[in-house]
Amino acid sequence: MHIKMILPALTEAEQPYWRPIKYALFPPLGLATLAAYVSSDDSVEIVDQHVEVLDTDDEPDLVVIQVYITNAYRAYRIADLYRAKGICVVLGGLHVTSLPEEAMPHADAIFIGPGEHTFPTFLADFRKGCIQKVYQSPIRTLDKVPPIRRDLIKRAKYLVPNSIVVTRGCPHHCDFCYKDAFYSGGKSFYTQRVDDALSEIDRLPGRHLYFLDDHLLGDTKFASALFSGMRGMKRVFQGAATVDSILRGTLIEQAAEAGLRSIFVGFETLSASNLLQSNKKQNLQKDYNKAIARLHDLGIMINGSFVFGLDDDDEQVFDRTVNWAVERGITTSTFHILTPYPGTRLYADMKASGRLLTQNWDLYDTRHVVYQTKKISAEALEVGYHRAYRDFYSWSNIFRSSMHHDAIKHILKHFFYTAGWKKFEGVWNFLIKTDQLSYMLPVLEAVLSNIQPKQRLPEAKVEKMIPLPVNDHPLRA
Ligand code: SF4
Repeated sequence: MHIKMILPALTEAEQPYWRPIKYALFPPLGLATLAAYVSSDDSVEIVDQHVEVLDTDDEPDLVVIQVYITNAYRAYRIADLYRAKGICVVLGGLHVTSLPEEAMPHADAIFIGPGEHTFPTFLADFRKGCIQKVYQSPIRTLDKVPPIRRDLIKRAKYLVPNSIVVTRGCPHHCDFCYKDAFYSGGKSFYTQRVDDALSEIDRLPGRHLYFLDDHLLGDTKFASALFSGMRGMKRVFQGAATVDSILRGTLIEQAAEAGLRSIFVGFETLSASNLLQSNKKQNLQKDYNKAIARLHDLGIMINGSFVFGLDDDDEQVFDRTVNWAVERGITTSTFHILTPYPGTRLYADMKASGRLLTQNWDLYDTRHVVYQTKKISAEALEVGYHRAYRDFYSWSNIFRSSMHHDAIKHILKHFFYTAGWKKFEGVWNFLIKTDQLSYMLPVLEAVLSNIQPKQRLPEAKVEKMIPLPVNDHPLRA
């Protein structure tokens, strides 16, 4: 039997702001995880339409398609095409889980929630010729999950082939996040066994790793054991965590010692009212400045995530946020327009209050306004969002932001990392076209090299170094 697994390109692939490098970072790990359940008698291929051409003239025995919200229409078209040839097609992923009724007419079977336990059941049913229409399992464990089929990943096509996920979900419950919908019916946060995670790391070549976990520091015991096991492995890695986990205990120091060099942090908003609206309790009353200073002291670069368009945002939010991030030496920023994904509490609230303007999922890409705004017009929100990106990544702000570090090495790392990521599109495009992205990995590893951690600054100095307008701070608002 031949199985074809497809990640269809997001709709952004046809937009003017499409950045090929942004979608050539990580291989489709979810599909490679499911591929591990395929018997060795069968053949399986993974096609990621972001980095390669999808040929639909073939006739595999089974097609598995991963569906996100902005590739949903494309995924359905591909599914319809294969089904018209009499080929069995199954759909799974975030969007299918949120809107199973929408996906159902395009599939022979759909998967709701994580597939680690349902996919092997489906494969057994498929062999017997008696598949069910819907597969959903409340079992939530990563014990005995077989090693990811990394042999199916075309490493040369990705800048970060060593991406890895050692947990699932997140312990928090932000209203705009897909997480609760995807994991409903079972645990929404669980981890691998530490030994399994370390073995997986051990199998990866080179030094660099990127943990794609929603919240790498979400389980203190697990993360502490993981970092302890990673000490001496000589890895450098990137990951994501929340402000409160960075402030709590000594986990972040342990992570730095194990090789953490850059971290994605969901600051989201500088308004306490917005945090409350989003149920982002873990950020409330937390001192963003202190978390940032702690990361700077450890030589960890910060990728800050910010959401525009929450109800307390007005037209000043863009300049305020960009200046805040630049003044605090945030290395890279990811901005989003608030997007009510189906299945989230935000979506339910907006729908109930008649605020949804469209259900064209192609527009749910965090670049378009799809709901009725409050203190700002939809047009001003979209214009401000694009301006925030332009301003944050202007040469002058890259330079200004870099200068907010004490060590020369940190200043240079910050400057080259940000400039490299945003200012050399032509070079990235050339490397992608010629399958030479892997040559950039040693450069990335060099930029992520260690900076000698220094002592934590005394509180008073932290406040002085990074002044925060009183009304901006969630603690004080
Ligand atoms: S902290 Fe992040 S991953 Fe966790 S629920 Fe909130 S938005 Fe989702």
